[in-house]
This record gives sequence, structure tokens and C-alpha cells, in this order.
Amino acid sequence: HIITTNIEHPAVKNTLGFLESLDFKVTYLPVNEEGIISVDDLKEAITDETILITIMHANNELGTIQPIEEIGKIAREKGIKFHTDAVQSFGKIEVDVEKLNVDLLSLSSHKINGPKGVGALYIKKGTRVVPLIHGGGQERGIRSGTENVPGIVGFGKACQLAAENLDAHYEKLSSIRDELIEKVLTTIPEAYLNGSEEIRLPNLVNFRFKAIEGESLILLLDAKGYQASTGSACSSNTLEASPVLTALGLDPVDVHGSLRISLAPESDAFDVDEFVNVIAEAVKRLRQMSPLWNQELDYDNIMCRKHEDNCRKC
Ligand SMILES: *Cc1c(COP(=O)(O)O)cnc(C)c1O
Repeated sequence: HIITTNIEHPAVKNTLGFLESLDFKVTYLPVNEEGIISVDDLKEAITDETILITIMHANNELGTIQPIEEIGKIAREKGIKFHTDAVQSFGKIEVDVEKLNVDLLSLSSHKINGPKGVGALYIKKGTRVVPLIHGGGQERGIRSGTENVPGIVGFGKACQLAAENLDAHYEKLSSIRDELIEKVLTTIPEAYLNGSEEIRLPNLVNFRFKAIEGESLILLLDAKGYQASTGSACSSNTLEASPVLTALGLDPVDVHGSLRISLAPESDAFDVDEFVNVIAEAVKRLRQMSPLWNQELDYDNIMCRKHEDNCRKC
């Protein structure tokens, strides 16, 4: 029996699906409207057969952070191994395997500007791991095959740079993030933040706009030189509603009106006001064509066509 959440990245989700086909039992914990699991739900889900808890540190679509430290404590008390997917949080916020009480933690190089095709698994001493790849016994027999040395060196350098700049980048990005959230929510009618306002990564924001289609919005933003995405960056060509946003309890129509924005510390020329204006213009244009928005005109609290953009009630 394995316990996880219903918002894991496919890297974990599909692996567990495979294990289910081998008769492992998997419990998928729900998340609240902010995308955070309940520790009580976790405690209740634990049985005598539970061998592993795997819960992501920060979500890749929302940026929401799970209470890993607390989960780790519970797992340790019960003698259950605990893995966290820290691919999104690593290099963005502090990731300390001791503090987080984890036995296993996974990382990916390209998410911190390192080369693609390299990753790392932290294994706490005393945690037995069965290899998936057998061969010449490299990496202490856990992952055979000659090592990708240039990739590993590049990942190492990326880790070093991420560690050196962690605090400065956190400061810089979280203040841009907060300004962006504030301006989008106050200047665009019927705009909402997906995920937690407080417990989130500095570099990731996810909004939704009523009565528009997110895919059309990213095309309009792209034409203005901004690259954003609707859900997960790896599955931008599917039109299926994001399972992560659906897990928040959102209506499928609202899920399709979502916009995920990643902020990079390198983007020095980034001007929040200019960007919010571009989004506001694009949202307005799409709403003018949206049959959903027409129907919504009767609602209180939304933009009136006769007035300016900022008219909330007329
Ligand atoms: C990108 C990502 C992965 C997968 O890492 P790859 O190295 O791209 O396969 C796993 N989990 C999360 C949270 C991610 O964002």
C-alpha cells in the first residue's frame, strides 16, 4: 500500500499507475481548494500494509507547497518510508533533507537551468533501494550504465549557482510575484488566483479568468513576446482539463481559462505593469468573442461593456 496525492506530476502518478497494475494498492489523497493535502487525511489513510508515502514538495502547475516536514515526521513515527518529488522546489526555496524528514528525494537538472537528461535521487543511509537498471554496477550498483559525466558536471554547477543565489532570487522573484498577483486581481475583472496565496514558490503563479480559453490567451501573449502555459508545460498539446486544477474542485470550464506563469531571475527587463496590461487587453479581446461572457453579463460584479475595463459594478 502506497499513499500519494491526486496532484502529483506524471513522473510519479504514472509510475504508481504501473505499480497498481502489479497489484500494489494506492491511496490518492485529495487536496483543498488551495492545493494542499490534509495531514489528518494522511494519518487516516495509513494502514499496517503501508510501505511508502510519496508526496511532492511543490506542485508544478500551482507552485503550492505541501507540509513535507510534518508528513515526514508522521512517516518516521510509523516506520514508513517517505519520498518527495522536490523537482520544482529545489533551487527555489530551501530543500534540507534533514529538516524535511525524508528518506528519498528526487531532483531534475533542467528545472534549475542545468542540462537536460540528468537528475538525482537522494537516498538516506539505511534505505534499501532495488535497482531498475542492471549492468556494470556503476553508482554502487543502484543505477548501472556508464555515467553521463558532462551532464552530471553541468548539474553540479547549476546546483552550486542555485545555492549561491537562493536568497537573492527568492527576494527578487517573490516581490515580482506578489506585485503581479496584486495587479492582475485588482485590474482584471473576474480574475482569480489558483493555489495558495501564501504557501507558494517565488517563481510560479497560476491565474484563471472567467469565460475565456487559456490556450487562446497564451497565443495572444506569445504574439507580444511572452511565453506562458495553461497547465503543465509538458502537456501543452492536450486539450484535456488539467487534473491538478480539477483536483482543486474547479469547474472544467474555469479550468480551461487558466494561465500559468513562471518567473525567471534572469528576466531583468520584465515590467509587471506592461505585462499586466498585455494580459488585460488579451482577456478583454477574448471575452468580446466569448459566448460565455455574454451570458454572464447579467451577473453582479463583472465588467460592463459600456464602461472602462475596471468597472466592477455599474
Ligand atoms: C519536471 C518535473 C518532473 C520530471 O522531471 P524530468 O526530469 O523533466 O523528467 C517531475 N516532477 C515535477 C514536479 C516536475 O516539475
